[in-house]
Amino acid sequence: MRKWASAVFFCVMMFAFGGTVLGATQEKGIYLGLHDKMLPFAKGEAFIVNGQAVAPMAKLNKALYVKQSFNQVDGTYTLEKHGKKLIFNASTKEASFNGKKTTPAIIYMKNNEMYIGVRWVADHFGLKTDYLSAHQTVRIYSPQGAKLSNEEFIQANQSFFHPKAPKPNPNPPSKKPIAYVTFDDGPSVYSASILNTLAAHKAKATFFYIEPNVRKYSTSAKKAAKDGHYLGLHSVTHQVNRLYRSPQSFMSEMNQTQQTVKQVTGQSSVLIRAPYGSKPYLKQPYRNAMAQKGYRLWDWDVDSLDWKHSPSTKNQILQNVKAGVQQQKKRGDQNVVILMHEKKATAEILPAILDYLKKEGYDLQAYNPSAHVTQNFWKDGRL
Ligand SMILES: [Zn+2]
Repeated sequence: MRKWASAVFFCVMMFAFGGTVLGATQEKGIYLGLHDKMLPFAKGEAFIVNGQAVAPMAKLNKALYVKQSFNQVDGTYTLEKHGKKLIFNASTKEASFNGKKTTPAIIYMKNNEMYIGVRWVADHFGLKTDYLSAHQTVRIYSPQGAKLSNEEFIQANQSFFHPKAPKPNPNPPSKKPIAYVTFDDGPSVYSASILNTLAAHKAKATFFYIEPNVRKYSTSAKKAAKDGHYLGLHSVTHQVNRLYRSPQSFMSEMNQTQQTVKQVTGQSSVLIRAPYGSKPYLKQPYRNAMAQKGYRLWDWDVDSLDWKHSPSTKNQILQNVKAGVQQQKKRGDQNVVILMHEKKATAEILPAILDYLKKEGYDLQAYNPSAHVTQNFWKDGRL
């Protein structure tokens, strides 16, 4: 009989001891609230261990407006609020409240930091505690300090439990550098080939059209517009003597090209590329007239020099683009505007050029009037 009883006793002890050891290592993170608001404790900063909610002592006392001091002589802590004193010895856990013995202190040490029982402190200073398990929150409150019921408390603190995710930007700015591939003097017999290559590379480009060509190759102009490319303006005559005779003659050619592009393709274009480049022709009076009419002006910063080449030397066009792009990279220029023309050699080497630009990390985009980049030799910010 005696032997049997001791065996049972042994089993119970094992169970209890095992439970305690398990409990000590298991910390369940909680949040803390005071009256109607959440306290700034991160989850896990306070936790439940051995069935007791504990929190870092100094931070908890500060949050509860409890003054804390330590007596080096007898090794006791004193917690004070509204003239009431809770004194305890951290090693023996003996405690007194207003000079009378009280329940032993709830102390937990972790990483050399002292954690104290939340309820033990709150009880002594006249505060109630509720554990709102669905939100893993210990709410500390007094009837005078709290206006809200527990349900209202949770409702009022929804933003704490469900912080709003930052709104995703619907149009995140492209981190990639942009290459604007541009083709002058079209549309032409080479337009179809160029448009096919662009589509195959999922690339968008900018075309600068000559007015009579828009009429002559209207099918290509329409297709370019439909494919999402930008159709810019490149004059009617393309002749220095006539185009640059006066600001009026220049404007009249550009206005006419603008009208034709609009009639044929439906696109309203504001971007001009001046034949032979804007320098030296587009002096101040020209630019004033353009700015007044709301036109924009693009030269280029990478010249393919493709006009020099026939198909037999087309590789040199690619080499020129590579050299120009590398130079812009060295200068830290994120956006490159590449000058090309609607030519046979250019159409043939275009796949290699687009492959190269993609490999270099560029997005191949068309001119975007709502994200205008200044790119003229005069550095005229109005254009
Ligand atoms: Zn031209």
